[in-house]
Amino acid sequence: MNVKEILNNLETKHPGEKEYLQAVHEVLESIENIYNENPQYASAKIIERLVEPDRVFTFRISWVDDNGEVQVNLGHRIQFNNAIGPYKGGIRLHPSVNLSILKFLGFEQIFKNALTTLPMGGAKGGSDFNPKGKSDAEIMRFCQAFMLELWRVIGPNTDVPAGDIGTGGREIGFMYGMYKKLQQENTGVFTGKGLNWGGSLIRPEATGFGGTYFTKEMLDTQNDNFKGKTVTLSGFGNVTWGVALKVTELGGKIVTISGPDGYVYDEKGLDADKIDYLLALRASNNDIVSPYVQEFPEAKFYPGEKPWSVKCDIAMPCATQNELNGEDAQKLVDNGVKYVSEVSNMGCTPDAIEVFHKNKILFAPGKAVNAGGVAVSGLEMSQNAMKLNWPMEEVDSKLHQIMTSIHTACIKYGTEPDGYVNYVKGANIAGFIKVADAMMDQGV
Ligand code: GLU
Repeated sequence: MNVKEILNNLETKHPGEKEYLQAVHEVLESIENIYNENPQYASAKIIERLVEPDRVFTFRISWVDDNGEVQVNLGHRIQFNNAIGPYKGGIRLHPSVNLSILKFLGFEQIFKNALTTLPMGGAKGGSDFNPKGKSDAEIMRFCQAFMLELWRVIGPNTDVPAGDIGTGGREIGFMYGMYKKLQQENTGVFTGKGLNWGGSLIRPEATGFGGTYFTKEMLDTQNDNFKGKTVTLSGFGNVTWGVALKVTELGGKIVTISGPDGYVYDEKGLDADKIDYLLALRASNNDIVSPYVQEFPEAKFYPGEKPWSVKCDIAMPCATQNELNGEDAQKLVDNGVKYVSEVSNMGCTPDAIEVFHKNKILFAPGKAVNAGGVAVSGLEMSQNAMKLNWPMEEVDSKLHQIMTSIHTACIKYGTEPDGYVNYVKGANIAGFIKVADAMMDQGV
């Protein structure tokens, strides 16, 4: 089958999985030429095999809330592809979680992990559990109940989960604690662990730092840098925090953050105190960003709006999938944006990407930009295997090297005849070739 036939087939088979189909479309469109030029891929049915997960686990999670009432959620783990290493990917806890969203994330993770240069396959898991407003005790009981099922299918050499939206250090602690009770082993089955029990330095900052290092490389190609640049961010979680720290250190000015309730515009830019405050805001578990303006009254809150109408040089979406659409992209272009660096997974819709490409704005996709998170997860696995901890400088310099090498791969495969770099194409082709060749080497 050719690429179009495979896509049609997939659409007929999984009609309701819109996020998943969107992610597959983007990858297959990018790699179509490479696929056609290499008939060995078609004869080994590489794409047909890549687009179906190795296996999907779905399970019920029952837990008791603080009022003594029984609550029921659904949990999933998708082991997508392990051609280049153990399954690896985060756990998302959010009411929107469904199989389509986890399949898109797991599919993206295959190529992202391949780009890191480390031996990690692709996976994703999660639950429709809503952490918003829950007490610590409720979070713990949910995480323990989740792990009562998940522990059967994960292991340090088979499948290594980590954090994602809704799953941070606290949740990983509860899950890992329960895993140890059930499995009686103390190896690195999770990444994102606490520093005192096997975690790696820089892991909390890694996605944001890595995204900023990647963006710095993009700026470098234009003999440009962060100094004096106005940068808009969305989100206010761990990823936004890491980007804010590093961009500010490199001389950029962050003027927006956002939450499900709206966005905050802070004309003066986020300083160290304000960036610190992001952690307190996230830890409050309320999922709203508006309290920022009570703390820092010079900022303005725009309820129900997204930050993409604010004039900026660089936009870095850091929240969730499809958070920036074609209209938002047009506003950014009209306001003179020069670089868009997607830190969230599939943060921009296909329409938005089209607007950036048409206007020759440099746009880099999440699977390249946010790979620093999982890259440092890979480094955490290495440290666990060696039973030692690397100093901060060592982890940071390895992260830096990895992000530079991902950027180089994007340039290699994404540079068009007129010199414009199509980072989407570059990242997809580089990731695909590595995984496809590994699958070819290992037989059917
Ligand atoms: N959830 C993160 C991602 O989307 C990190 C995954 C990991 O560290 O395994 O890449």
